[in-house]
Parts: sequence; C-alpha cells; structure tokens
Amino acid sequence: MTNSPEERRMLIGGQWVEAADGATFETVDPATEKVLATVPWARGADVDRAVRAAREAFEPGSAWRKMPPSARGRIIHKIGDLILEHRDELALLESKDNGKPVSFAGFADVPMAADTFHYMSGWATKIEGNTIPMSSASPGRFLSFTQREPLGVVAQIVPWNYPLLMAAWKLAPALAAGCTIVLKPAEQTPLTALRLGELIQEAGVPDGVVNIITGDGSTGAALVAHPDVNKVAFTGSTEVGKEIIRASADNVKKVTLELGGKSPNVVYADADLEKAIAKSAEAIFFNQGETCFAGSRLYVERSVHDEVVAGLKAAAEQITVGAGTEPTTVMGPLVSAEHFDRVMEYVESGVAEGATLCTGGRRVGDKGYFMAPTIFTDTKPHMRIVAEEIFGPVLVVLPFDSLDEIVAIEKDNPYGLAAGVFTRDIDKAFHTASAMQAGTVFVNTWNTVDAALPFGGYKQSGWGRELGHAVLENYLETKSIIAELGR
Ligand code: NAD
Repeated sequence: MTNSPEERRMLIGGQWVEAADGATFETVDPATEKVLATVPWARGADVDRAVRAAREAFEPGSAWRKMPPSARGRIIHKIGDLILEHRDELALLESKDNGKPVSFAGFADVPMAADTFHYMSGWATKIEGNTIPMSSASPGRFLSFTQREPLGVVAQIVPWNYPLLMAAWKLAPALAAGCTIVLKPAEQTPLTALRLGELIQEAGVPDGVVNIITGDGSTGAALVAHPDVNKVAFTGSTEVGKEIIRASADNVKKVTLELGGKSPNVVYADADLEKAIAKSAEAIFFNQGETCFAGSRLYVERSVHDEVVAGLKAAAEQITVGAGTEPTTVMGPLVSAEHFDRVMEYVESGVAEGATLCTGGRRVGDKGYFMAPTIFTDTKPHMRIVAEEIFGPVLVVLPFDSLDEIVAIEKDNPYGLAAGVFTRDIDKAFHTASAMQAGTVFVNTWNTVDAALPFGGYKQSGWGRELGHAVLENYLETKSIIAELGR
C-alpha cells in the first residue's frame, strides 16, 4: 500500500493503512490555502483496530514487554537521532502544514522534539521502586517494596500549534515508561506526526507499540470513549479537556491535561526596558501567538506604560509577516481560516468594548490567513480580549500601580499555565513569582522551556506535568508488594 506525500496513510499495528471505510480529509497550507495532502479519517472501526494493536503489543510476552530497559532506552534515543538527521525536511513539512517560519521550526520545534526523546531515553533504565520499612509489624517480619509498572494502553491527543514537538512530549515519556500508544495529531496538522511514525519504525520500535491515527474531534472522542484505553494524555483547549474528563468517567481512565492559558507578564519600571520590550514582544508574537503559554496579558507599571507601549508598537510593526517558507519571515499565517476568523472576531469585540487598537488588528494580503501583530491598550479586566484566551498575535496591555492590584485581577484568571516578571530587583522578582498561580514563571525572560523542566498548569490550565522526570508519573502505576518472611 502506498504512503505517498500527497496521499498519506496512518500507522496501525506496524502497517500504513487507509480508514476502514476509505474516508479521508484534506490538510491545507495556511499560506497558500492549497491542499497539501489527503489523510485517512479514522472512525470507530479504525480507533478500535488501533487500540487492539496497542493492547496486543502490551500483552505480557510481547517483544516490547520482554525488551530490557536499556534496549528500550537505545531505541528512544535513536528516534531523537533520526529526528535530527531529518531536521530540514521536518522543519519544512511543519512550516507548510502549520504556517510557522521554517527557520523557527528548524531551531526550535525539531531540535526540541529530538531533545525530548534524548532526555527521556535515559529514564528507561531508572524507573525504580523503594524498599519501605513497615511499623505495623515487628521489624524483619515483612519485606515490603514498591514496583513501578507501565500503565498500559495510552491515548494521546495533541493540538496543531507545535505538532511535532507536542507529539514528542507525549510519546517519549510513554515509551520510556514502557506503555503502548495510540496518538492522534490535530486534523489541521497531521503530517509531521505521520513522518515521525516512519522514523519510529526505522528506530526499531516493535509493531503496534506506537499507532498514529488521523482524524478530527470525533476521532479523538471515539478514542477517549474506548473501553480498553487505560489512560488519556491530552493537550488542547480547556473546553475539550473538560469533555475528556467527563468521557473518561465510565471506565475511570487516568487523565492528564495540558490546557489553555492567558498568561500575565509583569513589567516593573526598574526593569531593563529594552530587554523587557523585546522579550514581551517575543512572548506574544512568537509562533503567531499560537502558544499555550504566550504572554498575552501585559501589566506595565504606570510610570513606564507609555514608553513600553511605544517600544512594543515599534517592535510589532517591524515584524515581517509572510509565508513560513520564506527565510525572512518572522510571523507566518494563522493555522486555518476558522482560527483566523475566530481571532479577528476577538479584535472586533475589543474595539466594540472600547479598547484602543494601538497597532495591527487587520488581515495582511488577500491570500492565506495572515494577520498583523496586534496590540490593545486602554483595556479593562472584564473585556473579552483580556479575560479569554485568544491564541493569536493579540496583546492586551494594562497599567498597574501595585502588585496587589495584579493579584486581585489574576485571582479571577481561570488559567495558570505561565507568568513572567521583568525587574532588576531580585526581591521584587521572587515576591512576584510567588504571588503568581502558574506552573512556570519566567524572570527576565520568556519562551524558555527544557526537556528536564516540569511544565504544566495550575487551575484550569491542566492536570499533571509534562517533561522532566515528573512526567513519568503520568505513565506508571505503583504496586506495593508485601511478603511475610515467616518469623
Ligand atoms: P482543541 O481542544 O480544539 O483540539 C486539540 C485536539 O483535540 C485535536 O487533536 C482535536 O482533534 C482533538 N479533539 C477535539 N475535540 C475532541 C473531543 N471531544 N474528544 C477528544 N479529542 C478532541 O484545541 P486546539 O484548538 O487544536 O488547540 C488550541 C488549544 O490548545 C489552546 O487552548 C491552547 O492553549 C491549548 N494548548 C495547550 C498546551 C499546553 O501544554 N498546556 C500546548 C498547546 C496548546
């Protein structure tokens, strides 16, 4: 069966297959609005087939279950090597499918995906239990210890903003833990996950351990509802995250969630303002603002408000908006027509609610989903542009006089993914960091993530942590074994 670049197949049980009923959908280049490829549309029968393949690969005695941890680690490491070997190809594919600048995909998405596999490969040999002394019996009567075991068949559902990287964040730790997987990339951007599937095969992962099925929300919902899935790991919107919690109740699946954000960024008057302006612009405009931890809500101390806004406006207006495949592009198109309309609707609501459009707020060109970097001032916490996640290149600025004011507004922020603070005063920096209800706090920086650092959300930004050794908890069970020694 062919698996051509224009007519992709999906990966089930080591085979590249069409959907059982032959259904397909198209994935579109958001810069040209042209179809890049057709992809199978997995429905109930395909989901079932993929889950059965993953279950079979998880059975005791399977090649995967019998594999020593060091061999598992080497295979995971090899996936990272293969990603780096195919860096340019993957960066170009990501740029075409998602719209992001190819240069950014080449220095951020692809090497960070490789790094995730490299980092996680080391954990395969370090999954350990403990021997634990008991006080409920005299010493020496029992030997009691814990054993860590892979959780089983894991459903992993990822969004379109960092398609390859999000797939890596999910797959690498689940493989390190010894689970088997059914991964569903987003319908807007399935192509790099499918290419990754080929590299995973080349690295020597046994058939059925990683299955990659393509489809939309209905495919994801069928996967979450499947009775033989032990765990769901989801990255996406808070709204769908809540649906997943409800849908997982029937067989009490374990669930971890990486959800939305509306991350506050605080600039104090004593900050290095040149740096604060450059980093705050990057915090919102990097990846077209399509970043879950984008610094989308900027608090600026009143005495430097006008200076910082002027600097941000200049920075925004210098950004080259264009096709991701052009080497000079800094901001590509938004991912889809639907998302473009959604973001523009927020811009209209901001104007209607009385905020001042400082720059941007308009389409760029007449083909593709390009939008100018946008900044609103004179905003109020109740406005939709301030209260809700926009997930596009739209920054809202609020002046402040004291940290208490920010804390009072942030109390009502449903999200808690990230926060940032710019100041030269170390006390102020850490006092502000402690006051923020967020899983990650950046001090005098932004957009810095690392495979070794736990990442995740407070409040409605999620359950559990990705990355670091913390993520392994998502994919392991703990078994306590108590043996009576008979004395
Ligand atoms: P989305 O929730 O619409 O879709 C995400 C994925 O879920 C897609 O693969 C989609 O097909 C699938 N899906 C949709 N409905 C489903 C259902 N009922 N059951 C199961 N799966 C379903 O989100 P999106 O618009 O693709 O992505 C943007 C959102 O993702 C933003 O809110 C963003 O903040 C969030 N995000 C969070 C993180 C993080 O690490 N916290 C990272 C990236 C994106």
